[in-house]
Amino acid sequence: MRLAQRIKRLQAARRQSAHGWYPRARRVPSPNADERSGSTPVDLLVIHNISLPPGQFGGSAVEALFTNRIDPSAHPFFAQIADLRVSAHFFVRRGGQVVQFVDIHRRAWHAGVSELVTPQGRRERCNDFSVGIEFEGTDDKVFTVRQYAAGARLTRWLRRRLPLVHLRGHSEIAPGRKTDPGAHFDWIRFMRGSGFPAAARSACAELQC
Ligand SMILES: [Zn+2]
Repeated sequence: MRLAQRIKRLQAARRQSAHGWYPRARRVPSPNADERSGSTPVDLLVIHNISLPPGQFGGSAVEALFTNRIDPSAHPFFAQIADLRVSAHFFVRRGGQVVQFVDIHRRAWHAGVSELVTPQGRRERCNDFSVGIEFEGTDDKVFTVRQYAAGARLTRWLRRRLPLVHLRGHSEIAPGRKTDPGAHFDWIRFMRGSGFPAAARSACAELQC
């Protein structure tokens, strides 16, 4: 193969691989991901919160959990979760830094047993057709100004690449099982910043999902 041809192919491959990675994020690839099954469009954004140990911010344990490197002896809680195989596409830290674990075109393992309720019907297995953003936090604390700014910027980028029309919290697709992102997540503020239309959640209120 001629050199020019090879360079062209390499450049195309690089563009392809960069396509699903947010340029402003630090990349920490997770093995806990696979190909999306079927041809369902990715039309759901799921908001979560996480902190490890719960309520402590700033450490490296979330990255360790999502890359199967958590040390079960470092904290009593870690022993309970060390065998989990989970991930999210993104993690937005308290200071607004963004970490990406999974290409947006692949399936991250963030929703678990879940069901999206819309006026059009019900769909299970939300991982198949969603992107997951974890905000560093807890159910009982407000999120930071920088997190809303970073989350909005990230979501605008996502909306240019994926046909996202539904916006839900983890607790709304896994009621009774999950409680995040909690009552302190300001949906109005997030939607204003990210450009989501009110319809992305109005159906949710009507349906009490
Ligand atoms: Zn969650």
